[in-house]
Order: sequence, then structure tokens, then C-alpha cells
Amino acid sequence: MRIFSGIQPTGRKHLGNYIGAIIQYVSSQERGQALICVVDLHALTVPFDPVELRQLVYDTAAILLAAGLDPERCILFRQSDVPEHSELTWLLTAVTAKGDLERMTQYKDKSAKQRELSTAGLFLYPVLMAADVLLYRAQEVPVGDDQRQHLELMRDIAVRFNSRFGETLVVPEARIPEVGARIMDLQDPTSKMSTTSASVEGTVYVLDEPAQIERKFKRAVTDSGEGVRRAPDKPGITNLIDILAVVRGQEPAQIEREFANTRYGEFKVAVAAAVSEYLAPVRERYNELRADEARLEEILAAGADRAREIAVATMADVRAVMGVGAPR
Ligand code: ATP
Ligand code: MG
Repeated sequence: MRIFSGIQPTGRKHLGNYIGAIIQYVSSQERGQALICVVDLHALTVPFDPVELRQLVYDTAAILLAAGLDPERCILFRQSDVPEHSELTWLLTAVTAKGDLERMTQYKDKSAKQRELSTAGLFLYPVLMAADVLLYRAQEVPVGDDQRQHLELMRDIAVRFNSRFGETLVVPEARIPEVGARIMDLQDPTSKMSTTSASVEGTVYVLDEPAQIERKFKRAVTDSGEGVRRAPDKPGITNLIDILAVVRGQEPAQIEREFANTRYGEFKVAVAAAVSEYLAPVRERYNELRADEARLEEILAAGADRAREIAVATMADVRAVMGVGAPR
């Protein structure tokens, strides 16, 4: 079983990334050959600073290692170190419908927010993401709920490629957690917590200090009613229940039973304490790991060498069936 997933070095990673994706990356090491990629090329689709980008790659890699990725048991690498990602993106545009890209929610949302330049990269983002996964012929892709649509498109691209050029690529499956796949912004529980476009007060960062975590949960927006239970008209409380369920490793129903008669204020304090305790060891390990950039670079470079071996083999097949380059 081969598993691939990517995470953007676009800014401070948050509890949504941690619960929706990073926990799944860590457990994927037990289930097969996991490739986890810091996707710096994806970060070029929104405004970025070149000097900061390098630093953010280290930040993101250190968070992943602190969360429990083990370079001995997975392939952790930086996307741009494997140039085949870019090459395959271009080749896949030949089997991607422009109309499908125009329908992507993330493209519509993010391009509407760009004030200066809405880049072609933002439009092609899902093709690059398809290339990321298809390059490794991965069977499974652990992601949060917001990536569902991109995964469907990726599958369509693989199917179209195979029917046009012959069975070459593996059609991957999304792996989306049942609870925690869509952690919402604490200040606006109708929007997902996001690296690039959320309110700082509504976003719990993996590296937040306990006092910041407590403040953010205490101020979390909830409905004016009562009753700690999940309901469509209670997105704020539902979000807090899901968060507590995941960090405690329990079912949301158990949380509802335990806190049935608890007031919102008290419940928020309990969630804050649990999240604080949950993230504290990650923050500690992060501080140690982040301090040694040479070591981080070494890990990423070794990962890229291993990833590249797989990528080069796929690209040779793709070029051959597409009639691109010298015949082999
Ligand atoms: P941006 O909002 O700029 O796209 P992001 O917060 O989505 O940033 P990414 O690096 O794009 O961060 O996503 C990494 C992984 O985290 C993806 O698998 C994505 O589905 C997941 N993820 C992102 N936000 C959430 C969330 N609020 N809840 C659960 N999973 C999430
Ligand atoms: Mg995202």
C-alpha cells in the first residue's frame, strides 16, 4: 500500500491541519509506504516571500516530525526537490478539462480573495495536486474534507489518462477522517479553519502557548442556546465537541453524554485544557527540531532522493505512452 499526502508551507499550521491531516500522516506510517510532502510549489499560487518560503518549509517539516513522522519509516520531502512534479503537471493538463478546473470551490474562493494578482497557478493547483499523487502511483491520500473535490478531479484525470494512453496510472482513493475532517474557525464556525485566510483569534495554531489556546477557546463563538450536543444549527458547539472527541480519542456521542448538563463556558474551558495538553509535547519537540536547520535539510534531501526514484520510473512510463521525448 502506497500513501501520499501534501501540506503547504504557507504559514502557521493549525489544529484543523493537525486533526484533519497530520494525525493521519502519522498513522499512515503503520499502514504502508507513506510519502509526505511539503508542497512548496503549491505555496506559489498565493502571494509569498522567497526568503520566508524557505523558512516556512523548515517550520512545516519540523511540525510534521514533532507530530511523529519518522524519516526512517516514511519518505518526508520537499516537493520542489523532485522536478518531476512540475513536468507531470504539464503533461496532465492534456487530459484535464478546463471547465472542471473552473468549477473547483477552492479556486473560486481563493481567486476571489486575491487583490492584486489572481495567478494561473491558483487555477492549475488541482492539476499539480493530481501530479503529486499520480507520480507515485499512490493508492491512498489522507486529506481533510475540503480536499474531497480535488481528489475526485484527480481520479477523473487518472481515469481519462488511462483510457486515452493505456493503463499507466493508479486511480487513488481519498482517506477522510470520520470526525475532525473539517475543523471550523472558532470565530466563524461556518468557515473552515485555514492557514491563509482565517482570523487569528479563531485559529488555534499547533505552536500556540497554553494561554493563547485558552483565550481562543473561551472566546469561541457559540449559539445562545444551551446543551452540549451536535446539531446543524449549533455549528460552534458541534465543532468544539468534535475537537474534544479527537484529542481524547473518544466518540463525539461520549462527549455529549459526559457534558450534557455542562454550561458552554465550562465546556470551553475543558476543551481548551485538553487541547493544550495535547499540543504541549508537540510544541516542545518542535522547538528542538526547528533549531537544527542543517538536520532538517538533510532529512528532506534524503527523502527527495527516495521519492525521486519512484517518480523517475513513473515519468519514464508516462512519457513513453504519451509519445513525449526520445523513444526508449
Ligand atoms: P489554505 O487554507 O491556505 O489552503 P490549509 O489550512 O488548507 O491552507 P493546507 O496545507 O492546504 O492547509 O492543507 C493541509 C491538509 O490539512 C489538507 O489535507 C487539508 O484538507 C487539511 N485541512 C486544512 N484545513 C482543515 C480543517 N479546517 N479541518 C480539517 N482538515 C483541514
Ligand atoms: Mg488548503
